[in-house]
Amino acid sequence: MANLENATKTAEGVTVNGIVLSPVVEQCEGCNRLREFEGEKFCSSYAFPAKKWMGGNCNFATHIKVAVAKGAKVNPLKASKRAAKGK
Ligand code: SF4
Repeated sequence: MANLENATKTAEGVTVNGIVLSPVVEQCEGCNRLREFEGEKFCSSYAFPAKKWMGGNCNFATHIKVAVAKGAKVNPLKASKRAAKGK
């Protein structure tokens, strides 16, 4: 895992360019945006990983795939026209 760039440890915690970062959460495991700093893991894209997961999956995550519905896409409007024509 790559190191967190420009990170420094301050009284508030680990900061990058003056922004205090929170460590990643369990769901982040496997994400390519994980970075390490002094034994802790942080996100290279977002300061508060827990917040990214509060409303569902993190939209920056590289390790999850959005489930795609199986089968060909059917346009219901075209399908009904085809059915009306008897094709
Ligand atoms: S991009 Fe999302 S899933 Fe990946 S480390 Fe950051 S917060 Fe976690």
